[in-house]
Amino acid sequence: MEIVVPTEFQYLYVTNDERPVTKIPEQVLRQVAKPIEKVTKRHVKLAERMISIMKAANGVGIAAPQVGVSERIVVIAPERKPIVLVNPTITEKSGTQVGEEGCLSIPGLYGDVERFESVIVEAYDIKGRPIEFEMKGYPAVVVQHEIDHLDGILFIDKVNEATLHWMDPNPERD
Ligand SMILES: [Zn+2]
Repeated sequence: MEIVVPTEFQYLYVTNDERPVTKIPEQVLRQVAKPIEKVTKRHVKLAERMISIMKAANGVGIAAPQVGVSERIVVIAPERKPIVLVNPTITEKSGTQVGEEGCLSIPGLYGDVERFESVIVEAYDIKGRPIEFEMKGYPAVVVQHEIDHLDGILFIDKVNEATLHWMDPNPERD
């Protein structure tokens, strides 16, 4: 689906120090990101940068392609503490849920997406140790959305198009 950004939302699509997140139609968002063979200091720094950009943008998750890096690392923060996942994969999934999603790379656009209700995720942590956990409900939505980014998939590819709508994410902005 081609997204036409309404004039009043175009200021959100400028990329600068204040808005560093990569936005559509940047090609990096459509690439399949490269697996990380060994976690290095560079990845630790990358994860720190992703966390600070995500927080500044009031996001609940971010994937490396959203900061212009085509490597398989995501941060999810559906609750308080950000979790860094290296090479995350979904190994089991069950049920369905539908909820409204947006994306830092498509600011201002929202719509309903169907996701699995529950997923089991395998990944490595930022120290390179294998981890495995189950997520349900909203955290499961966030992790599915972020892992999709690593395969070049955006929520607009899965959205119920009838529910798509524009809304200013920073309504208090003057
Ligand atoms: Zn996103």
